[in-house]
Amino acid sequence: IRKVYIMDLQSARTLLRNYFGYDAFRKGQEPLIQAALNNENALGIMPTGGGKSICYQIPGILLDGTAIIISPLISLMKDQVDSLETIGIHATYINSTLSKETYEVRMRQLQQGDYDFVYVAPERFDSEHFFTIINQIPISFIAFDEAHCISQWGHDFRPSYRSIIETLTKLHHIPFLMALTATATPEVIQDIQVLLNIADSNVINTGFARPNLYFHLIKGQDKQQFMLNYLKEHAQEVGIVYAPTRKLVESTYSFLVKKGYQVAYYHAGLSEELRKNEQNKFINDEVQVMVATNAFGMGIDKSNVRYVIHYSLPMNIEAYYQEAGRAGRDGEPSDCILLYSGQDSHLQKFLIEQSLLDEEKKSLEYKKLQAMINYCHTENCLQEYILNYFNADQRVVACNNCSNCTHTGTKIDRTRDAQMVLSCVMRMNQKFGAGLTAQVLKGSKNQKVKQFHFDQLSTYGLMRNRTEKEITQFIHFLVAEGYLSTGDQRFPILQLTKEATRILKNEVKLHVRETHISQHDESDYNDD
Ligand code: ADP
Repeated sequence: IRKVYIMDLQSARTLLRNYFGYDAFRKGQEPLIQAALNNENALGIMPTGGGKSICYQIPGILLDGTAIIISPLISLMKDQVDSLETIGIHATYINSTLSKETYEVRMRQLQQGDYDFVYVAPERFDSEHFFTIINQIPISFIAFDEAHCISQWGHDFRPSYRSIIETLTKLHHIPFLMALTATATPEVIQDIQVLLNIADSNVINTGFARPNLYFHLIKGQDKQQFMLNYLKEHAQEVGIVYAPTRKLVESTYSFLVKKGYQVAYYHAGLSEELRKNEQNKFINDEVQVMVATNAFGMGIDKSNVRYVIHYSLPMNIEAYYQEAGRAGRDGEPSDCILLYSGQDSHLQKFLIEQSLLDEEKKSLEYKKLQAMINYCHTENCLQEYILNYFNADQRVVACNNCSNCTHTGTKIDRTRDAQMVLSCVMRMNQKFGAGLTAQVLKGSKNQKVKQFHFDQLSTYGLMRNRTEKEITQFIHFLVAEGYLSTGDQRFPILQLTKEATRILKNEVKLHVRETHISQHDESDYNDD
């Protein structure tokens, strides 16, 4: 039988001050702690850096018995345990990194009730030995960190997380549960509530807004050049560049090394040793940039990441917000930059098509990808767009920081350029891709150009004063903006849209926004 020594919030506040050294609770912390002190199941949805740990740490200290904290982030467990130990709380972690001896010692101590907290990975619940022991000892409660992993609708579903629920029903005494997450769509929230039996009144949602993150969307620019300029201007800072493929990670890595930057790289194709090595370089501030695929980041708690650059479109908003959200965990102003071009979505579509998902799941993934593509076309606040995606029924206000909120209105008229491209596509009978179209506009003497007699076209060489790369990028921009379509093919063929016809007839103009990323200073940063 659990014995509750102290039930009131006043003790929680005293603890907050005396143990953690903070004067006041942050938004959402108090109601979650209150629910725990009432022994009720609860779900907390708070942004990264919002202070989720304290929500289970304080009840864990106040309530008798051992609190079990389930987290998929093995690499964070040690830090959490260390920080509890430094304030005099007995805590430990049990996961696959332990030697057999250490494991056995810890299990024995757990059995003796030596710990207020034990951190475990979800897989631990598959172990009968572990189950037998926790079934014998008083448990104060069980907390699910990163609770979105429990839901199939989440972007990071873990079957081992889901199967814990079944195991829990076999425990003699079922303590209450606390679930915490920083990313959850309404479907995921609903799912967690049903799975863990959480009443509506115990869902504490403070929203996900991260006022210190400055979202920027960069379209129609040379990505490599942009990245290079940015790194040059932010040479004193540390950041992450996410590239969509292993190959691009490696080539970007070599490119930056050649340019003299201190770089680390990371993708799932590297040996475990190398990955660990590269990751440590980044964590220990030995390098300025980490270039990685999305395999990098889960469980990395580096607080001073000042920017996250996405070199290409992420697969959905959940993934984007989580990856971009690795910037600025310390609350300081940080940039989240997405470099977008029209052909980016092909890779993501290809990945969905190739996946082993059933048709229903595939169409859901397509829907999510479309929401990500729409992000690249909204003229409204970018942060607002993301927050609305997660939380359709909560009103969000514009951030005043993102590239849409801050753009000065300076626009460049590129109607002429667009007309040249579009009429070239028309003259090539809408049967070719961006590469060959760019070569024709450049006036290339390429074999294929001659073979199709494209050197006879009136548009041949019309843009000869630009580089082929610039022209290609501009074509991708026209795709992104909906003047050209490429269908769903793996080898996209350019076709004119209705909007293109209007440009060609001079009925509308094409104005392109000029985007700059300014340096932040204290005064333009509004933290509440
Ligand atoms: P999350 O898990 O939500 O990303 P953490 O629990 O790691 O966030 O907390 C982020 C930071 O905020 C930590 O440094 C933590 O000590 C601090 N923090 C938590 N609660 C408070 C509070 N009430 N007042 C001040 N700082 C707090």
